[in-house]
Amino acid sequence: MTIKTRTSGYADPSLHAQGLYIGGKWEKGSGIAVVDPSSGDSLADVPDASVEDALRAVDAAEAAASGWRATAPRQRSEILRRWFQLMSEHAEELATLISLENGKALSDACGEVAYAAEFFRWYAEEATRLPGEYRHTPSGSHQILVDHEPIGISLLITPWNFPAAMATRKIGPALAAGCTVILKPASETPLTAYAMARLGEEAGVPPGVVNVLTTTSPGPVTSAVLADPRVRKLSFTGSTGVGRLLLAEAAKTVVSCSMELGGNAPFLVFDDADLEAALDGAMVAKMRNAGEACTAANRFYVQAGIHDAFVAGLTERMAALKIGAGYDPETQCGPMITPKAVEKINRLVGDAIALGARATTGGAPLPGSGYFYPPTVLENVPVDAAIASEEIFGPVAPIYRFETEGEAIRLANNTDYGLAAYVYSQDLGRAMRVGSRIDSGMLGINRGLMSDPAAPFGGVKQSGIGREGGVTGIQEFVEAKYYAVEF
Ligand code: NAP
Repeated sequence: MTIKTRTSGYADPSLHAQGLYIGGKWEKGSGIAVVDPSSGDSLADVPDASVEDALRAVDAAEAAASGWRATAPRQRSEILRRWFQLMSEHAEELATLISLENGKALSDACGEVAYAAEFFRWYAEEATRLPGEYRHTPSGSHQILVDHEPIGISLLITPWNFPAAMATRKIGPALAAGCTVILKPASETPLTAYAMARLGEEAGVPPGVVNVLTTTSPGPVTSAVLADPRVRKLSFTGSTGVGRLLLAEAAKTVVSCSMELGGNAPFLVFDDADLEAALDGAMVAKMRNAGEACTAANRFYVQAGIHDAFVAGLTERMAALKIGAGYDPETQCGPMITPKAVEKINRLVGDAIALGARATTGGAPLPGSGYFYPPTVLENVPVDAAIASEEIFGPVAPIYRFETEGEAIRLANNTDYGLAAYVYSQDLGRAMRVGSRIDSGMLGINRGLMSDPAAPFGGVKQSGIGREGGVTGIQEFVEAKYYAVEF
């Protein structure tokens, strides 16, 4: 298959998807059109897996499981390390592919590839460091020995907004722990996942250890895979709505679940913040991936004394961004993923304006064939507008004014989500105090970017269950086994 490209940057045809990847074999097929969101044009057609295909992937993962589990941690580590190396060597092609199918600016796509590859390097290191435990019982009756075994075949489901990083953040720890996996990437962005599988093959991942399938029937396929008693783990990244459905589905066979779900991050700026630093941080927290990030700042709460200067500064920076196709190297804000995403943003902005908000820049979709929404700043947003409680997932910054620290904390926590939050203040004591009272899994203190392969990523409340990355991430793919030993 040849992917239609609009750039000479994507040069390596060996990375082009060939079909479903099951048991180390590429199976040709079609049925899912992959679209360039900057034009609406078709880029490629990838196979549409059936329930039977998915169960064959479970067979393949099962056939490879005992061999992979018995593979020495050092060897598993070296395969992951080679995969990291290959991703780094092919960074430009992978980044261009991400820009093509996802729409994000090349600079964001390059950042994603580097971040994604780092999960393989990090878990190459962790593969050889999985700790056990040994202790005496308090009564002295016997010894407690705890081993960590691979949890088993794992179903990994990923979203379109980080097509490389959301996959490696799961595959890395799963393989390091000794599990075999089935990856189901999002239908909008399958090409990156298939390209990475090719590199995994080259890195020496044995057949069946990683299987990749795309499908237009995610519900039936997932239900069938989770109903198979050989499958013991579901690791999902996506919306809270789909996460809830999958938790119910997994309950039927009591499959262990890790859930990385939606966010509604508050970004708090206190009067004593360094204004320029806060604006720099706001741009990163809001505009990475044009706002299509789970950690994206969704609500800006700005204290009265700095409010007007912050609105003016953010408006100036947002209005200056260059909009265009992600793969144009000049672009700073690419298209949204689908027309539906643009409609949702438009609805939320329209609702806020109807309730009294004012757009200081942007505020309406751009005409033309691509799915573009311009960088937008809204001021005077009522705290009960729909935009305050729904994930925007786009380049819109709603700004709310607050007076006191207590009010800011109350507003920040007024959400069902609890993934990321940001606090800007030059008084570190205040920043830490406020941070400790915000219900979120992650906090940026005077920093607009928190993702790091060495840190535990995840949320509280309806933003998820479990953590990915860091030393915690591998624990999601092991079961503790306790041996009671007497001698
Ligand atoms: P989504 O609609 O929930 O889809 C995510 C994945 O689930 C896709 O692979 C999708 O497949 C699949 N899926 C959809 N319906 C399913 C079903 N009934 N059964 C099984 N699988 C199903 O989310 P999205 O729009 O792709 O991603 C955006 C969301 O992800 C946002 O809410 C964002 O905050 C969240 N997110 C969270 C994190 C985090 O780490 N917490 C990171 C990134 C994104 P199809 O594509 O085939 O529909």
